[in-house]
Amino acid sequence: MSVFLNGRFLPDAEATISVFDRGFVFGDGVYELVPVYSRQPFRIDDHLRRLQTSLDGIRLANPYGMNGWRDLILQLIEMQDFADQSVYIQVTRGVAPRDHPFPRGVPPTVFMFAQPLVTASTELKRTGVCAVTAVDNRWSRCNIKAISLLANILLRQQAVDAGCAETVLLRDGWLTEGAASNIFVVINGVLLAPPPSNLMLTGITYDVVLELAASHGFPLEVRPVSEAEVRSADEVWMTSSTKEIMAIVKLDGIAVGAGVPGPLAQQMDGLYQTFKQQVMRA
Ligand code: PMP
Repeated sequence: MSVFLNGRFLPDAEATISVFDRGFVFGDGVYELVPVYSRQPFRIDDHLRRLQTSLDGIRLANPYGMNGWRDLILQLIEMQDFADQSVYIQVTRGVAPRDHPFPRGVPPTVFMFAQPLVTASTELKRTGVCAVTAVDNRWSRCNIKAISLLANILLRQQAVDAGCAETVLLRDGWLTEGAASNIFVVINGVLLAPPPSNLMLTGITYDVVLELAASHGFPLEVRPVSEAEVRSADEVWMTSSTKEIMAIVKLDGIAVGAGVPGPLAQQMDGLYQTFKQQVMRA
């Protein structure tokens, strides 16, 4: 498999970095994940803007402009022998002797690879998934897509240990997001979404869902969602680039609504699939 490392495309087996890379030693870096359909990257400019926000958040200069990134990503996509991909992009603060302060004059490490895109199966879409809740004990800069995902990993593992797909995070009695997704709820036919803040990562899928909801006349409120509302909701959804729109049908062992994917989740998934087809596979 061809990967990109520090300005070069090369086979993954030949792509190596120093053990003193600050990404490895400190988790000092940021990342992006861009879904690619039929070799077309989905919402690439939005992903690149979010990458810029993450880089700004950790005070690391962006090594490429929008056009530079776009060219490199398209080249990487063309090199793969599969058409639907997920392109992973990582930028770290480079290689330097281990010391907390930012090193001076050190180039960032830039790494990209593409994997076959694995989205949720039709069967899983039909049945929905279960989730657990947990206290959101992450830091207060969750809008940075940081590679240091330890808190998310530990939280997500709670779901795995319970045989579930996701951990829904609650901070001070309010919904933030999932360990690796955004969370929407439906109450009395109204779609509710927590507003973007430093306590969650604003998903590209989250943005698309809000756009589709607005353009198709779904009753919609972007406002803080309480734990009580999550627990009594008619529908709970998780959204992400790979899970797309996935209904959560059981939360902490208790059925959500009727315990099957609700009508709005199914409608939104349909709209999302159509949107993808129109935008990407035209
Ligand atoms: N929040 C977190 C913490 C995530 O890790 C992700 C997915 N990587 C998302 C939200 C959803 O983002 P997107 O829709 O861009 O995949």
